[in-house]
Amino acid sequence: MVLLHLPKLPSTILTPLSSSPIFLRNHFLNPNPNPTKTPRPLLLFSTLTLPASEPTPIDPHTPEPTPHLQLPLHKLFVPPETHVPLDTPTLTARILKGSNILLSNYATDSQVAQAEFIKSSVRTEDCPSDGLPEFALVGRSNVGKSSLLNSLVRRKKLALTSKKPGKTQCINHFRINDSWYLVDLPGYGYASAPQELRMDWEKFTKDYFLNRSTLVSVFLLIDASIPAKQIDLEYASWLGQNQIPMTIIFTKCDKRKKKKNGGKRPEENVNDFQELIHGFFETAPPWIMTSSVTNQGRDEILLHMAQLRNYWLKH
Ligand code: GDP
Repeated sequence: MVLLHLPKLPSTILTPLSSSPIFLRNHFLNPNPNPTKTPRPLLLFSTLTLPASEPTPIDPHTPEPTPHLQLPLHKLFVPPETHVPLDTPTLTARILKGSNILLSNYATDSQVAQAEFIKSSVRTEDCPSDGLPEFALVGRSNVGKSSLLNSLVRRKKLALTSKKPGKTQCINHFRINDSWYLVDLPGYGYASAPQELRMDWEKFTKDYFLNRSTLVSVFLLIDASIPAKQIDLEYASWLGQNQIPMTIIFTKCDKRKKKKNGGKRPEENVNDFQELIHGFFETAPPWIMTSSVTNQGRDEILLHMAQLRNYWLKH
């Protein structure tokens, strides 16, 4: 995939790490599995420099390298304990296709072999208590959340469970490979929902974000086929302000005929969204372009989840 609108890699990317250390805040990864009611502390991670010759035990399903995506270093998401290759071709080859995410050695066991619906909860306290790491999917109604969930687990109707009467406003837990959870949260932004109900959902999901100690990262779904909506920006801003680890999943990237009515192409909307949320974060949040129609981004999401999860489990 060519992201024509993104600037070329600057020569500063080749600056030796010793003179230009890279530090990451933990906005996008919560390394602390202990429950806490207070905002998560800001921890700094420095890069771990591995010998260039060291083999990297990444998943066999690692997608082909993408030589086209060119991003300046400050727009990349570098997971903690990840060596940033100094030469541009190696660095480019380790960026997940259609994303700004660098692969780390933690990206193992990414494939979904088994998925099952576990339970619907109406309060954070009622969620599963087995301590397994989890990723929460959230987005505006109609953003493509159910389609993405089904595509991730390769099951046509698993996410229908969340759409059954009585479950649309719940925290729905799906256990994957008996070792981690995908969590479907209520969609937001229903134009027709009464204000009272909207406030209620808001309170309930915010409580989950702030108090769910096993939440590794929120996956905020943004429709890339339309320009950014105010409510999406507010959501991203709130997550940033509260230091909730967040990954942006741009959906519907296959919808390309958007030039009419002032519309833009998905990569332009992706760029615009990042510009708009730039001020909310100290470092660039990870993002991935996806389509549930073509399965674009599916393997990349799973690899990203694997590296966040494996790092979280070790710390
Ligand atoms: P949800 O309300 O967020 O769960 O959204 P759904 O998954 O039900 O999808 C809403 C609509 O968008 C449906 O008509 C889907 O067929 C469509 N849709 C979802 N994902 C994609 C996608 O990646 N590409 C395209 N072209 N349409 C999609």
